[in-house]
Amino acid sequence: MTDILDVISLDSYVMTSVVLSLSALSYARHNEKQLRLLETLNTIDPLTGALNRRALTSDMEAALSNSERNGTEQLLAILDMDHFKVVNDKYGHAAGDKVLQEFVAIIRANIRKYDRLYRYGGEEFVLLIPKVNHQQQRILIENLRSSIKDKLKAPGGEEVTVSFGVAPWLPGSTVDAWLNRADEALYLAKANGRDRVVFSND
Ligand code: GH3
Ligand code: MG
Ligand code: MG
Repeated sequence: MTDILDVISLDSYVMTSVVLSLSALSYARHNEKQLRLLETLNTIDPLTGALNRRALTSDMEAALSNSERNGTEQLLAILDMDHFKVVNDKYGHAAGDKVLQEFVAIIRANIRKYDRLYRYGGEEFVLLIPKVNHQQQRILIENLRSSIKDKLKAPGGEEVTVSFGVAPWLPGSTVDAWLNRADEALYLAKANGRDRVVFSND
């Protein structure tokens, strides 16, 4: 130390140390921001901006333990576009992509702040709806179905409808069991004519 101070003044030694420490700090903050950005991008579907399947699994785990703790009613819904292959076949894949984006915009405009939309795969989406009481459940989902029917159109102006399979949370549910109940309800919605809502407890 005394050797160094023979060559440079104490003032410039202190100044240099402060500048170096501040640069290191700012570099670390920058890295931290980039890491957070990467984490966010990792959970988002690039086509539609909806959350992706990876986010769904971890959010469902959190939702399950939340309801186990305090018994809050929650809904899981699988939404599947009806006859979507026809839209693609008639107007092309790019037009189909636009319909998927428009679908997400309509759902987003009609859900509450804490409701979350995930792209489950292809033209299937999942909604996780926390804190919804028994009386509101059917009204909320039915409103979504009719908003889609009113507003979502193929390029030629034809209606694009969606079928809903809905599973209210049950004590002791696992992620897979909860998804399966919604999927079975969706199957019935399709089999009963599409453009409709089926609850797993119907
Ligand atoms: P159903 O009412 O029984 O659900 O009929 P469907 O035609 O919607 O179902 P099917 O599973 O036969 O076809 C799904 C279609 O969704 C076929 C596939 O090309 C299309 N699709 C899946 N992912 C995408 C995508 O990212 N973009 C576009 N444009 N189309 C997609
Ligand atoms: Mg479909
Ligand atoms: Mg499908």
